[in-house]
Amino acid sequence: MIIVMGREVTDTEIGAVVKKLEAAGLQANISRGIERTVIGAIGDESKLDPDMFTPLPGVESAMHIAKQYKIVSRESHRESTVIDIAGVPLGGSQIQIIAGPCSVETQEQMDLSAQFVREAGCRLMRGGAFKPRTSPYTFQGKGVEGLDIFRKAADKFKLPIVTELMDARQLDSFLEYDVDVIQIGTRNMQNFDLLKEVGRINKPVILKRGMSATISEWLMAAEYIAAGGNHNIIFCERGIRTFETYYRNVLDVTAIPVLKKETHLPVIVDPSHAGGKAWMVPALSQAAIAAGADGLLVEMHPSPCDAWCDADQALSPPELKKLMGTLGAIASAIGRTL
Ligand code: PEP
Ligand code: MN
Repeated sequence: MIIVMGREVTDTEIGAVVKKLEAAGLQANISRGIERTVIGAIGDESKLDPDMFTPLPGVESAMHIAKQYKIVSRESHRESTVIDIAGVPLGGSQIQIIAGPCSVETQEQMDLSAQFVREAGCRLMRGGAFKPRTSPYTFQGKGVEGLDIFRKAADKFKLPIVTELMDARQLDSFLEYDVDVIQIGTRNMQNFDLLKEVGRINKPVILKRGMSATISEWLMAAEYIAAGGNHNIIFCERGIRTFETYYRNVLDVTAIPVLKKETHLPVIVDPSHAGGKAWMVPALSQAAIAAGADGLLVEMHPSPCDAWCDADQALSPPELKKLMGTLGAIASAIGRTL
């Protein structure tokens, strides 16, 4: 059972719901989001009836949710959620392409990247300052200095920034540099303590799919963030591990309509880490938008062959511009805008 309360709910109104749950022998998980507060019943809820809660002040609705994931489920919230990223809407009819290099390298590289991202018509920028690398002997990212470089470059072109958080100890720096969207990478999708930490703040979070995670594990990981009160979650399909070795990962296009059915939250696709080669990125991007993705996370580097990380899969600036043209045509064919 979840009890949904409105934006203006008071502590007293929440308290009355909690008291009623406790009187029935259950406990409450209070998830205070910006748009709504959702109280989840913990325990044997078979004896609960929604009618016990709907007359209480501040309660908008109460319902049994059969699924394990509740706040993120479309059952609990029919309309698609549009997340406001520093004024840029994600999840509505306008598709957002988040582009930029795999990693932050230098101020010059980031300034140029931001310029090309803007010139291509994208409204959001990506770039990793903390990099989860397979080998400890490869470039690990510029760290906090990278956040500083990224923020300066993106501010010159008024682009909100997306960057990966690997460790809760870096969260204060992310808040200090006012990172607009926190990315949780594939390797941390089930790092539950990290998910709980980003659940405590109200910054939008991109939750990438674990490379071997099922859809329900992915949804449950998002529920960890939501349960803490952060309802600004964006799912990102980035390819999964299969028996195929020709490409880096298999882009699971099927996951897009499935996620759109199961959750009210936005769903985006990373075609770069799926294919692993720049030449595959346009085809995968087109498939993703045609299948209903709300946006893309694409790697682009001012000079791909000089990239310090993931050079093979970075689009060049003209390739990104060309892709934006094609995606615009697909967007209008499916009644959306780019
Ligand atoms: C990235 O976006 O730079 C990245 C490391 O992605 P993933 O977690 O999907 O591998
Ligand atoms: Mn990368």
